[in-house]
Amino acid sequence: MNQLIYSDFAQSCLQDLIDLQDEFKSEYDIEWYENWFYNQSTGLLTFSTGEEEINFKYLSVGTFSRQTNTWKWSWDNENTLPTIKEEIITVKDFGYQSEFSKLTDGYFESSEEEAWEFTAITAKLTNSIGVYRPISEHLLVFMVLLEFVDKETAQNIKDKYIKCGTHEYGRRAFICNHLNTRAKAGFEESFETYENMELEEDDDFQAWCDKCEQVRQKEGGWNDNSMAFADIRLVCESCYFEIKELNLGYK
Ligand SMILES: [Zn+2]
Ligand SMILES: [Zn+2]
Repeated sequence: MNQLIYSDFAQSCLQDLIDLQDEFKSEYDIEWYENWFYNQSTGLLTFSTGEEEINFKYLSVGTFSRQTNTWKWSWDNENTLPTIKEEIITVKDFGYQSEFSKLTDGYFESSEEEAWEFTAITAKLTNSIGVYRPISEHLLVFMVLLEFVDKETAQNIKDKYIKCGTHEYGRRAFICNHLNTRAKAGFEESFETYENMELEEDDDFQAWCDKCEQVRQKEGGWNDNSMAFADIRLVCESCYFEIKELNLGYK
């Protein structure tokens, strides 16, 4: 069997990336948009001008530091959320199979040229439609774009996340108005939950206090009366689990 040589493979991926990116730019005129924004929680990269916007599902490949001339794969980065790095494991696995240590070492001295090689390889192995490389201070952030997301789908995804006053942007959760992080009030849930769990499309974190549970039982379920009593409000996932811990000490 012929051993795949890293430099040959990287070069062919870079060539393919040039074509891919040309296609991407002709299909989606991203340079027309004035603003860009990416959100690790939703996994969406958004370009916008006023009301006009275009969204893509993205993966974080890694970052190159111009300060230290080092490359860090996203899977090696604690600050990168699982949503945007899990699929990068494909590249690492491929690296092990092919014995390409640059694809399996998490953090090492490197160059911008190499960073592009890693991104081109990732684009190839994840069937990406394009790449994007924003700059954040001294860091070059390399991402691959998996697919275009239409406006309605993007809005549905974004609606599932909120930014509370205390925590980072997180998934939304619904609680009754009697629950808070200060005093115990009991904690009933619509289903058993744990932090960072995956939720089905139609599921949300929902919890209510003991008093609400009494009313709910008396009313025979959630109806106008029990809903009015609960006076549901929106918090973030982190708030939700702080309140759960306070009430149930589940940890
Ligand atoms: Zn309540
Ligand atoms: Zn919160």
